[in-house]
Amino acid sequence: MLKFFLPNEHVKSIFDINPESLFKKGIKGIITDLDNTLVAWDVANATPEITEWFQQMKDHNIKVTIISNNKMERVKIFSEPLDTPFLFSARKPLSQAFKKAAKEMKLEKEEIVVIGDQVLTDVLGGNMAGFYTILVVPIVQSDGKVTRINRKVERRILSYMRRKGKISWEE
Ligand SMILES: [Mg+2]
Repeated sequence: MLKFFLPNEHVKSIFDINPESLFKKGIKGIITDLDNTLVAWDVANATPEITEWFQQMKDHNIKVTIISNNKMERVKIFSEPLDTPFLFSARKPLSQAFKKAAKEMKLEKEEIVVIGDQVLTDVLGGNMAGFYTILVVPIVQSDGKVTRINRKVERRILSYMRRKGKISWEE
């Protein structure tokens, strides 16, 4: 059961994930969370660095789909200028949106990584749907109400992982 809460990798930010490291794993597609993974939850648009990261993936033929539990307006305003597919109100950790994204990218599960900042939505959802999961440190610590409750549970899971030696660095 616990294995569903453990990411395959834990990195400090999205910028630690690059085409070269993905190719080594045979990865051709990315399903990524938006809030606190790509930008802070209260930032409407992509930063120049994020725009560059998306361009880098596009240049290497790595497909990216944004899936977010947030509402249409937020996800659409962010994603459209990046010219990247997106799914909103995704109801992560349920599997449906993850599977839909994979199908639309025309890739196998083994060819996709799921990236996000939350164990209980992104990692749990990605793992249950059968993907390789990468947890990133949230861009900001402040959050919406529901997320705050999730974070409490998450801190306990992360401290468990740290005790078991699954996380080697300190935040
Ligand atoms: Mg998030």
